[in-house]
Amino acid sequence: MQTIAERLKSAHLRMERATANAHRPPKSVQLLAVSKTKPVSDITQAYEAGQRLFGENYVQEGVEKIQALTHLKDIEWHMIGPIQSNKTRIVAEHFHWVQSVDREKTARRLNDQRPATMSALNVCIQLNIDGESSKSGIGEQELPALIETIAAMPNLRLRGLMAIPEATTDTVKQATTLGKLAELFTQYHTKLSDFDTLSVGMSGDLEAAIAHGSTMVRIGTAIFGSRNNG
Ligand SMILES: *Cc1c(COP(=O)(O)O)cnc(C)c1O
Repeated sequence: MQTIAERLKSAHLRMERATANAHRPPKSVQLLAVSKTKPVSDITQAYEAGQRLFGENYVQEGVEKIQALTHLKDIEWHMIGPIQSNKTRIVAEHFHWVQSVDREKTARRLNDQRPATMSALNVCIQLNIDGESSKSGIGEQELPALIETIAAMPNLRLRGLMAIPEATTDTVKQATTLGKLAELFTQYHTKLSDFDTLSVGMSGDLEAAIAHGSTMVRIGTAIFGSRNNG
């Protein structure tokens, strides 16, 4: 059995190799450790191994972990799962980032509910890049309007795009999807000053994502092991 520290190191090696292969600068990709369903003790182990960015999918579970770990002041917490309207307040009050914003209503509530004592909430817009009906995220056509709306919200800081491309072994299809995503990202990255994050790539496809310009990969199983037993 490998430890979390060892798996974290392997993930960094994969990222470094992919970054070098893509002729991109070292450290141009951040690692978000996705700790959903995993206990606080796993997060502590990753933290002790140097990890600082953690992603959670479920509001209640995430907030419980944030509250259990308030003594680790330099953790940056990212919400990456769907958010129901009645949960926006608790999200706005606890997380540093929300990567799963996919409608104006959610953005508006997060903006209104972000406590004045906290800095602006970093947000990414989740894009449904394959048009899969089962998935969250807005369509490409709706992106310009949502970007414009969020960019004008004082308590939100629009940082970029997040996507979960369909899992596929078809490398041509994968490259097409990732290429389209990179093109959209670049278009806004050059226009908006804070728009610096392309969150794409998971345990299974981080190399392809980094080859296509990902700036943040979200890795769960490769660090914390399988989630089959919760
Ligand atoms: C679970 C999850 C991940 C991590 O996936 P792994 O395949 O376990 O690395 C990344 N992003 C989102 C949005 C997730 O829900």
